[in-house]
Amino acid sequence: MTRKLASAARVKELEPTFKCPLCDSPVRVADNISLICSRNHNFDFSKHGYLNLSARPASSKYTKELFEARRKIITESGLYAKMHETIARAIKQHRGGSADSYTVADLGCGEGSHLHRILEECGSPGITGIGLDLSKEGIIMAAKRYEDPIWIVGDLAKLPLSDQSVNVVLNILSPSNYKEFKRISAQDGLVIKVVPRPGYLKELREALFGREENMSYRNDKTAALFRQHFVLSDEVHLSYTKELNQAELGNMARMTPLAWSGNKARIDDYINRDYAEITVDLDILIGVNK
Ligand SMILES: [Zn+2]
Repeated sequence: MTRKLASAARVKELEPTFKCPLCDSPVRVADNISLICSRNHNFDFSKHGYLNLSARPASSKYTKELFEARRKIITESGLYAKMHETIARAIKQHRGGSADSYTVADLGCGEGSHLHRILEECGSPGITGIGLDLSKEGIIMAAKRYEDPIWIVGDLAKLPLSDQSVNVVLNILSPSNYKEFKRISAQDGLVIKVVPRPGYLKELREALFGREENMSYRNDKTAALFRQHFVLSDEVHLSYTKELNQAELGNMARMTPLAWSGNKARIDDYINRDYAEITVDLDILIGVNK
C-alpha cells in the first residue's frame, strides 16, 4: 500500500476527529485520495501521506537543515530522552487499561521526532498520533520518516480538529493557543505543555552571546495562564546536563534559532570543540481539561 493510501485509511478510521479548516463542516475521506467537507472544500493527501489543512499559506524561517539537525539531536543524541519518558508515563497512566480508541495530538510538532519517540515510549497499540505544524518543510520530513502518525500542515489558531476529539494535547517548546487546545480536548483529557527554564541550553547561549546574555524565561506567567484553562495535575521539573560530541554540537547550533543571530566566529568556536556539556532545564506542565 502506498503512503498516500495508508494515510487515507488511518484518517478514515478517525473521520469525526477532523473538521474543515475553512468552514468548520464535518469531513469525510473520499476515494482514498482526499478529505472533503460537506460544503465540498477538498484537501488532497500528498504522495507522502500528509494533509495540508492550513487555512492560510505559511512562510517559515525553519529550513530543512534545521529540521534535519533537530531530528538527529532528538533521535540520536538522546538529549530529550528523560522528557519523552516522563510524558509517556503520564499518558500511560491517564489511559489506564482502556481499550477505547485514544488520540495524542502534538501541536507544533516540527519534524515529528518528539511525537514519534513519545509514542514509541508509550509502546501500547491503539494510540493514534496526530502531528500538526504550520511548517510544510517539517511535516514533509515527518511524513517521509514516520509512517504511523497522521501528519497535518495546519494552523494553531484554527485547528482542523473537532470539539472534544483528542485525549492528549502535547505542546513541546512551542507556542500555544489555549482556547483551541481546550476546544479540541476531550472531557478529562490531558494537556501537556513543555516550557524552558532559565538553565535551558545555557552553555549554548553563553557561547554565542557571552555571559552577560541573560535570557529570562518567565515560567510563572506561563504556568498561571495554563492554570486559567486547565486543572494542573502535575508539574515536573527536569534538569540535567549531557555531554555532546562535535557532530552533536554542530546539530545543536543548527537547530537553534538563537544561533542565527549569533556571531559567526563564536558559533564556529562552539561547534569546533571536541566535547561540551549542555544543560536541559524544563518544566513539564500536566493539566486536565475539566
Ligand atoms: Zn469546508
